[in-house]
Amino acid sequence: MSRPKRLRLGAHTIPVSWHEGFVGKDCEAAEDGHWGVCHLGKGGLAIAVSLEHFDPPANLLHEAIHAVLETGGARRVFGCIEDEEVVIEAVSHGVVELLRRNPALVTYLVEGEH
Ligand SMILES: [Zn+2]
Repeated sequence: MSRPKRLRLGAHTIPVSWHEGFVGKDCEAAEDGHWGVCHLGKGGLAIAVSLEHFDPPANLLHEAIHAVLETGGARRVFGCIEDEEVVIEAVSHGVVELLRRNPALVTYLVEGEH
């Protein structure tokens, strides 16, 4: 399956780039880099691949949820980035599992009741 190169979200078209090894080493508190980063204003989403114990689709969804929260104005409800990370990590892995184990759910969500 091909990796998406961009995501459309509201008025945004967010570029997605894929990188061997960790990304975002220049980010705050990122000595070793991250599995993914979300910088809507500069570069969009950057996703690491080829890492052990790594699930690129779940990580893409993780970064996409950061984008959803940011564009929806919801990031401010989190007191700190750590709280946001805990919630997004749980949601992204849970949603990916739901979609993989319930293919009919994907169809229903995408197509609605038409
Ligand atoms: Zn995150």
